[in-house]
This record gives sequence, structure tokens and C-alpha cells, in this order.
Amino acid sequence: MKIFVCVSLLSIVGSCATLSYKEKIQNIKDGIVVNQPDKIKQYSSTITSTELKEHLYKFASKEFEGRQVGSKGQKLAANYIKDYYISENITSPIKNDEYFQDIPKETLGLDYNDSENVVAYIEGTEKPNEVLIISAHLDHEGIDDDGNIYYGADDDGSGTVALLEMAQAFKLAKKDGHGPKRSILFLHLTAEETGLQGSRYYVNNPIFPLDKTVSNLNIDMIGRVDRRHEENPNYIYLIGADRLSKELHYISEKINNTFFNIDLDYKYNDEEDQNRYYYRSDHYNFASHNIPVIFYFNGEHDDYHKPSDTPDKINYPLLEKRTRLIFATAWQLANQENRIKLDN
Ligand SMILES: [Zn+2]
Repeated sequence: MKIFVCVSLLSIVGSCATLSYKEKIQNIKDGIVVNQPDKIKQYSSTITSTELKEHLYKFASKEFEGRQVGSKGQKLAANYIKDYYISENITSPIKNDEYFQDIPKETLGLDYNDSENVVAYIEGTEKPNEVLIISAHLDHEGIDDDGNIYYGADDDGSGTVALLEMAQAFKLAKKDGHGPKRSILFLHLTAEETGLQGSRYYVNNPIFPLDKTVSNLNIDMIGRVDRRHEENPNYIYLIGADRLSKELHYISEKINNTFFNIDLDYKYNDEEDQNRYYYRSDHYNFASHNIPVIFYFNGEHDDYHKPSDTPDKINYPLLEKRTRLIFATAWQLANQENRIKLDN
């Protein structure tokens, strides 16, 4: 009898708990209202494969010598990004219009020279102190002993040029009177390939307080198709979106369903996944500070970390579509009424 009471009580409590979790999720979903859908369409369409391609052929060219941390090629790459923001009239959040967040050699280890993260931002119109960070790493593997250049067109030239195009689109919107309500920081990180050092430096020396940082959308390789998706290239892997904020996950899905219908593949978001990608790019340094992240990734391919990762192998229409998805998600995060909530 006693046992029976316990069991039935358990089942009641159990079902109540299940229901309330379901209700909670439904409430989150119901609370998401896509912000200015016509504007999202209008400005995301200014992100074009032609411009992405132009930038990428330059950024992943011989001239930049594989962009190894602290090398001449990496400095050229950093300056290319900086000059672009200046030419687009997109300012820096660091005083005196300094676009470089300098990282001393001592921090990077003896093998490397000084390096720098490159930063630009668009100030929010209503909540300028709250900031969304969109990031990609600018460095790659340099040149090997045989003189082979590691171009890193996908890794992470694709993410880099995506940031340039998104910044331009947000800037244009602002010029037209539709600037983001929250600030957006475009963060080009150095020293990812040497152990996520650029992002670690940033979270230890944040330009905006971390508790005012609403989210980090990190892009590392979005221009290619992996073997799993050869038959259907209309996909992108999303990692981390639901780990700290279910709201972020459902926003990301709603934006995709409303505008793009890309197959969002969560294979690598599985906490048991052996590849552990969640821990392997710059977003992790933000997530470990309790900042909700999404990591956008096309998966590994035959040219991954080889000199053959070149710009001619990029699928530019796909890069355009994925960049537009990230732009639209960023628009929502920067403009919706309340900043996204962390789960309890
Ligand atoms: Zn990478």
C-alpha cells in the first residue's frame, strides 16, 4: 500500500514536471516575435556571393602567406580587415580609433611574435551598453618547411569575409535609420589555431563587460560541404545553441524557418560526440563565461588543414545563404525587446 502511494505520487509529480517543462518551452517559442521581417529580408539580401568571393580571393591569397600568428602575412591580413572597416566608415570601440586589440608576445608563447585581434562595431541605438559579438578567426597555419602555403580559405577565410559583409549590411541599415538597438561587435580573433588564445585574451580583457555581452555567434568554416552532405549541401552544423539558453536555440530555428530553410544539423551538438567541437573554436571561451553561443560550422572536408584549402573550392552561393542566416539571427538578437535569457 505504502509502495503504491509512493509510486502514484511519483507519477503525478513526474507528469507535472514534464508538463511544466513542455509549457516552459512552449512559452519560450510563443514569446519569439521576428523583428522587422521586411528589413531582415531587405538588408540580408545586400550580402552577396560576388562580394564574399572578392574578399576571399584576396584574404586567402599568396600575399597573406597563410596568416600565421604574428607573421608578416597575418599583419597584412589584419590591416586588410582594418582598412575595410575604415573605408566602410565602421568605427572601432577602442579609443582613438584603434582597431587592433594588441596581444603581447609573452601571452602567445615564445614561438610567436606579437599579434592582434581586430575589432569594429556598430553602436546600438537604444541599448548601446548591451553587445552582441559576431566572431571569426583571422589566423591560419602559415607556410610549412617545404614552402607550402596553407591558404585557409574555408578555415577561416569564409568566416572572416562573412563578418565583413554582415557589418556592411548592418551599417547600411543604420544609415537608413534602422540601426540595431543593441551594439554589435565584429571580432576578428587571432591565434585560434594556436589554442584559442585570441578569444581567451579577449574574455580576460573584454572591451565590453562580459555581463553585458548578450551572445556570441562564432563562425569557423562555412564555405564548404562535407561528405555527409554531398547529396544535400543545403545544411550547416550548429553547435552549442541550446546549452545555455533554450531561447537562443529557438530564435535560431525560427529565423531559419521563416527565411531560409537550411537543414540545421545538430550531429556535433551531441554532448557525447567524440570530436568535441564545442570545445574547439573560439566560442568556447565565451560559453565558459556563461555567454550563450552558437558555433556555425560546415564540418571537416578533404582539404581541412591542408595547403589545398583554397578559395576556388568554396561554394559561394552556399556561403552567401549561410551568411544571411547568421545576419538574420544577429538582427533578431540585437533588436528584440528583451535580451535573451539564460536558462536556470
Ligand atoms: Zn578554424
